[in-house]
Amino acid sequence: MPTFGRPFASYHLWSLIAPAVGQERWHCQMKRGFIKARQKEPTVKALLTHASAPQRIGLLAQKGVYEFHHHRQLLNQPDGVEQVAQLLKLSKLSDEVQQRVIQILKNYHDEPVLKGKHIIELTSGDEGFPRPIWVDQKNYHFRLYATMDCIFTEQDRTLHILDFKTGRSAFDERQALVYLVAARYLYPKQQAVASFYNLERCKKSDLIRVTASQLDAIENQLATVAQKHQQDIFQYEENPSKFSEIFPPTPGSHCRYCSFNTICEFSGFKPSK
Ligand code: SF4
Repeated sequence: MPTFGRPFASYHLWSLIAPAVGQERWHCQMKRGFIKARQKEPTVKALLTHASAPQRIGLLAQKGVYEFHHHRQLLNQPDGVEQVAQLLKLSKLSDEVQQRVIQILKNYHDEPVLKGKHIIELTSGDEGFPRPIWVDQKNYHFRLYATMDCIFTEQDRTLHILDFKTGRSAFDERQALVYLVAARYLYPKQQAVASFYNLERCKKSDLIRVTASQLDAIENQLATVAQKHQQDIFQYEENPSKFSEIFPPTPGSHCRYCSFNTICEFSGFKPSK
């Protein structure tokens, strides 16, 4: 993720700056510092490139859905799940990852939520970094990054942006709101709605719709996120020794699940060696 030049915003950055509802107690700004300010340091880079089991499962689930629609006959074949599992090279992965991804593929084979939809975009997860959307308004300018898992059109031509989830975490509506802001730039002539679908639990969210003035307010909030982050990065680059003041830590039992607990001097959890 770039750090220089024009400020940028994304759902990921927003979620690193402000916690989702119910996550306030374990929200830690220092994680943002590691991910967005110190990401080029070799130790941090190594931690960032190592995907955790939940991250790997999320990526494989997305790729599995992509393969089912890329080779559409597999949705109707009794051995479709096994064939997609082979395409994903699941047998090389840990038992936990294999079992959970196979269950996801079975769920999707039984209930393919995109079947019969007019899909205009479905990502495999291999596309790399998204192209920026340039947001130029009178009071602010920033680059917006939004990678959408899937976009299809409803019968009335409304765009439907669908985000796939795995695991148990709650849907964070802010992600859908960022997609709706992006859709306003990418597809200015079409109305858009967004929703989430958990591939592991086969659970749909409600449809998320917003008015034009609500979109303006969200865009404003993203501009604030972009500015705040750029200021923090600037301060850090001016004075790296103030890392923990610019990105204050929130240590606690949640440090057990933090990717940086081996290098964070404030960690409330030290893994055994
Ligand atoms: S180990 Fe704990 S204090 Fe350190 S960055 Fe992670 S969550 Fe924050």
